[in-house]
Amino acid sequence: MSAQEKVIVFDTTLRDGEQAAGTRLGVREKLELATQLARLGVDVIEAGFPISSPQDFEAVKLISQEITTATICALSRAVEKDIDSAGTALKKAKKSRIHTGLGISDIHIASKFKDDKYGKTLEAKKEKAIDMGIKAVKRAKQYTDDVEFYCEDSGRADKDYLYRVVEAVIDAGATTVNIPDTTGYAIPQQFGQLIANIIANVPNAKKAIISVHCHDDLGMSVANTLAGVAAGARQIECTINGIGERAGNASLEEAVMAIKTRRDFFGLDTRINAKELYRTSRMVAEMLAMSVPPNKAIVGANAFAHSSGIHVDGFLKNPLTYEIIRPEDVGSPKSAVVLTARTGRHGLKHRLTELGYEVSDVELETIYQRFLHIADKKTEVFDEDVAALVNDEIRTIEHIFELEYLHVACGTGTLPTASVKIKIKGKSEPQTAAACGDGPIDAAYEAIRIATGLSPKLDNYSIKAVTGGKEALGEATVKILDEKGVRFTGRGISTDIIEASAKAYVDAINRMTATNKK
Ligand code: MN
Repeated sequence: MSAQEKVIVFDTTLRDGEQAAGTRLGVREKLELATQLARLGVDVIEAGFPISSPQDFEAVKLISQEITTATICALSRAVEKDIDSAGTALKKAKKSRIHTGLGISDIHIASKFKDDKYGKTLEAKKEKAIDMGIKAVKRAKQYTDDVEFYCEDSGRADKDYLYRVVEAVIDAGATTVNIPDTTGYAIPQQFGQLIANIIANVPNAKKAIISVHCHDDLGMSVANTLAGVAAGARQIECTINGIGERAGNASLEEAVMAIKTRRDFFGLDTRINAKELYRTSRMVAEMLAMSVPPNKAIVGANAFAHSSGIHVDGFLKNPLTYEIIRPEDVGSPKSAVVLTARTGRHGLKHRLTELGYEVSDVELETIYQRFLHIADKKTEVFDEDVAALVNDEIRTIEHIFELEYLHVACGTGTLPTASVKIKIKGKSEPQTAAACGDGPIDAAYEAIRIATGLSPKLDNYSIKAVTGGKEALGEATVKILDEKGVRFTGRGISTDIIEASAKAYVDAINRMTATNKK
């Protein structure tokens, strides 16, 4: 990929992202996240704002020592002590960058440089700001060749003044100039035009990379970022899951996948290993306790879920009918057909086959009618529900074993012991058995195995509350494997979870026996 075709990905999850999240990350956690960002293939990791806190300083220092594949960047204002702090924190980095700058709109200059020492008139203050920018770049250059300058609030700045600032900082040695839409006010066409104008009107613009840093206050951060890229920007500043100040920053996964998926339009590329996107997104969501909305593009839980009958039918015939990205391309779990009332017979049949059920057309129709009934009440129908439907409706099984009596003794310092009485079809006397185990359920299962004379392998066991409150019902689900490795699922419901568990086990054994008898 030539330099002209490459878009540099600058990740600011650890700086702009973390500063806005409700949770602060520890130094070690920041390193862990930086390691994942490097694995994802981001070109620049903005690791923090060293002057802002000792912890930020430490994090930048540690990440600089440990991460060698990406450029490590530290933020600073155009103030000597900030730049020195950033330079010191970055000292050990293999590739380092200082990101410095100042506000350049009239409103920023007038409000931030109120003091007469910056000049008496707005015009004088604006000249002083250019001067400060040049000095900051030169100071940063003492620490690293790679210096980025941000022109805060560029979108509202006087155009000719903006061009003069960009020219001056590039002359002073800035290798990247960041044009942020700090307040998330821009509109894509207008923002793209701003970037195009800078490139056309600043004589030395080609000597530096123009970067875009967009915020999502109007939900247009990614659109603005892409408009900037289309106009000639070659660095995008983004965060994982779009976290950041207020409504957040441009989402890295969305911007990167737009460039990748629409290569026909942009003709550009990034170094991102897209297969790491999903994993990185999960890590950020968990670490910062900011969950990803299910409908979020690229990484949301529903990003590859299909539910309407027409979509499901088309998707099953050929995924490309309704998917422009394959989930595996971004490391996301396989596409899912979510079963809802609108799924249709084809979708239901497909799921039944996946679950191992072969049903006739007549059976399918019966199951489908029952399915619709459940789907209307439940919004989403899970695999367990489908399995239960088939088992109840179509495969009514003969109950050979019936749990007649169960007694369990357990407690601190006692050996859990269970005794059971199991009624066996065709025999007049129930079978009794007693056993010990690691816990009450283990003991009960052992006693059931002795009483039935069957010992299927326990594959999976789970228990959940069906209803809330003190009278809550527990529903146990047990999966067992027969000697051929075929799986059978049993269910049991009771207000006593040990009884529910024992019933589920006996139910599974009944299903296994009934099937293997045929
Ligand atoms: Mn920002």
